[in-house]
Amino acid sequence: MKNDLSPNSSARPNSKESQEEDCPEEFSFGFEKVSASTKRKRVNTVFTSVANEYDLMNDLMSLGTHRLFKRMLVEVSGINSGDQILDLAGGTGDVADLIYRTVGNTGHITLADPNLQMIEIGRNRLLDAGACNVSACVCTAEELPFRADTFDKITLSFGFRNFTDQYQALTEMRRTLKPGGSVTILEFTKPKAQTLKNLYAQYRSLWPRLGEFITGDKASYTYLNESIEVHQSQEALVEMFRDAGYVSCFYTDLLGGVAAIHKGTKPISD
Ligand code: SAM
Repeated sequence: MKNDLSPNSSARPNSKESQEEDCPEEFSFGFEKVSASTKRKRVNTVFTSVANEYDLMNDLMSLGTHRLFKRMLVEVSGINSGDQILDLAGGTGDVADLIYRTVGNTGHITLADPNLQMIEIGRNRLLDAGACNVSACVCTAEELPFRADTFDKITLSFGFRNFTDQYQALTEMRRTLKPGGSVTILEFTKPKAQTLKNLYAQYRSLWPRLGEFITGDKASYTYLNESIEVHQSQEALVEMFRDAGYVSCFYTDLLGGVAAIHKGTKPISD
């Protein structure tokens, strides 16, 4: 896999759309309930639309703090030299960019994302950086095209909220982790303190207008706000980790709970 930075469209999982079209509308796309295939298509449309200005918007919306959060994600992941890493929903590759030097020549990072525009930017970023231990794979978290027991660590930054079937994604991640391997998730959350929660909600209400100004796409940033609003609580996500068979599960709030890092470990023996 080394030196292979081309998006691997052959790794795209087989489509289940014909089955999903018949499914009830049970997945949240922001405040709407939609079918699995509709959610997947609409999320893909969002990231296709914003890909070119994605990094700029992250810096503007977060006033740069997303960079700090991502460094904390890497820190909590506990990545070592020689590790095999999956950076899932890796998008424009900034987390992989933080990691590739640490894993070194004996390690490897797979940047995985279903959106071609996002992963192409990520691939180019890593090529420009001269990373030769990274490959790119076009796939969804719900159907990972990797063998069981492949990765030492999985990192996942601001992607989980967008997954169609989050439990299935955790199950797939667990399958592809080596025994004792871990998944670390950075995601938006809602502060518990009411004052901060209100302030943060007011601040986020600026994002769709900013998105419209920078990208010409207000709807995608309205979706962003709504998806944060409907995302499960930190405690519920810890429970989901446990249900999916992880151990040593915990979370830590960042900046009073505007985001959180969750971590779970695949048991050494099942
Ligand atoms: N990790 C990058 C970061 O932190 O900046 C990108 C995060 S971006 C908000 C969310 C990413 O999740 C998008 O690139 C999107 O294509 C990807 N994504 C959406 N649905 C997905 C799924 N079902 N499986 C894997 N990735 C998905």
